[in-house]
Amino acid sequence: MPLTNGDAMADNAAGALDFSKALEVLESEYPQKDGIDVKTLIDSAKNGGLTYNDFLMLPGYIGFPASDVTLDTPVTKRITLKTPFVSSPMDTVTEHNMAIHIALLGGLGIIHHNCSVEEQASMVRKVKRYENGFILEPVVISPNTTVGEAKDLKEKWGFGGFPVTEKGTLRSKLVGIITPRDIQFHDNLDDPVTAVMSTDLVTARHGVDLKEANDLLRKSRKGKLPIVDEDFNLIALLSRSDLMKNLHYPLASKLPHSKQLISAAAIGTRPEDKNRLQALVDAGLDIVVLDSSQGNSMYQIDMIKYIKEKYPGLDVIGGNVVTREQAAALIAAGVDGLRIGMGSGSACITQEVMAVGRPQATSVFNVTQFAKRFGVPCIADGGIQNVGHIVKGLALGASTVMMGGLLAGTTESPGQYFVSHDGQLVKAYRGMGSIDAMEDKKAGAGSKNAKASNAGTARYFSEGDRILVAQGVSGSVRDRGSVTKFIPYLMAGVQHSLQDIGVSSLKALQDGVADGSVRFELRTASAQAEGNVHGLHSFDKKLYS
Ligand code: IMP
Repeated sequence: MPLTNGDAMADNAAGALDFSKALEVLESEYPQKDGIDVKTLIDSAKNGGLTYNDFLMLPGYIGFPASDVTLDTPVTKRITLKTPFVSSPMDTVTEHNMAIHIALLGGLGIIHHNCSVEEQASMVRKVKRYENGFILEPVVISPNTTVGEAKDLKEKWGFGGFPVTEKGTLRSKLVGIITPRDIQFHDNLDDPVTAVMSTDLVTARHGVDLKEANDLLRKSRKGKLPIVDEDFNLIALLSRSDLMKNLHYPLASKLPHSKQLISAAAIGTRPEDKNRLQALVDAGLDIVVLDSSQGNSMYQIDMIKYIKEKYPGLDVIGGNVVTREQAAALIAAGVDGLRIGMGSGSACITQEVMAVGRPQATSVFNVTQFAKRFGVPCIADGGIQNVGHIVKGLALGASTVMMGGLLAGTTESPGQYFVSHDGQLVKAYRGMGSIDAMEDKKAGAGSKNAKASNAGTARYFSEGDRILVAQGVSGSVRDRGSVTKFIPYLMAGVQHSLQDIGVSSLKALQDGVADGSVRFELRTASAQAEGNVHGLHSFDKKLYS
């Protein structure tokens, strides 16, 4: 008679323990969890340092859907974000467009300072004035505009609905609206638009939220909804053609009781940066980042004290630091946040040229361990190439991660796409310590005024040097589409990773690391090879859809 499956298993299990006792045996005979705790991991490098690729986290128990994982996290002592993503203050990464879109998605963009004070302040103002869906700088015409001119404007802008105000500007009294239909068959081109404009207006009062305004627009059956103040001055416009695009952003980074996005910008630590800071504060700045490759300097410490005294409402992020000692000096001076990393950036050659720096995983662990005792949140800055690196930075204690190269290829970064010599769609990306950035040569990026700023040299204490020593390179990165898709991909990736680890929030991840329940393992070189695609003849690495 043939053996049944059950017989075979019973046979194999002869002498084995009762399977129903597996959990009991685990608990009573294996007091140590599988894998190693974080301290053992960091110490296992003996006297060396670890990078993100040198280790992995072990899986835990999945008891919840990935979509339940929350990613709220502080970026400074006072300000919390809903996602841990920060874009780097580099002139090929963050101008107002990046800052607005990453803030809408729950992160934070730090506006670079390789530009004039006026340019940087105007970018901060654009972030603060941004209201999702509302056109804040519509094309406005005056009552004297002729029908012919309105037709020309339609040709030029590609749309034909223009509000008409007394002075022909925003913030002037609204008198009517011109639509393409009003002018289409009007042959007397010299007539003023007042002869054909519609004065039967449906408007909404300034302060209306996007949902209410959209509802009003839908019901009005008009093409445009002007937003006016109590004196009927035009403040903004909502357009029917944008109706479908006006997505709601529930994670948007805003201060409590504010409708405005949080704005952050970088400055240097020289005396003239105090004037720059004043202009940024006047523009509505919420967080200032002191941008230096080696933050532990008398310049930065003086600057932190000056800012905390003069602008108590402004949050200051200091850095960069990679050691406890550097961190302690800046914490003592009063920083509200720290930025960790030296030499780990993708466009960075600091470690090679200066022989100074630290592998990023070790830097993040050592600094955050110290900083958390003082309640100072830390940004893991540089070296983030994928979702896994983000999770590792956060697991080692960082509250947020800062990305340069990973975001430089998105449509919201400054500059234009171009086709590389091997036929790829790419965008320029350069280190702020590259010769190009220090000499402020245009790289398709925002800096237009070479004399107005020397952020590149200042970051590396090189102003006035006769010979510029590069600490970064200038190159390109491949197209990554819009951050409106890329950031949600990073977010979903982090949620799935935390689900695998068995924790349902960033706080639970860091608590689990601290109490030893989240376990780690070192990765040998062959383990790293095994963990990557191998043995395939060819493959297409599409990351999300
Ligand atoms: P990435 O995300 O790996 O591309 O690194 C971005 C980070 O690199 C920035 O936030 C800076 O801290 C750092 N960085 C930017 N420019 C340079 C440079 O020229 N040399 C060294 N580090 C740089």
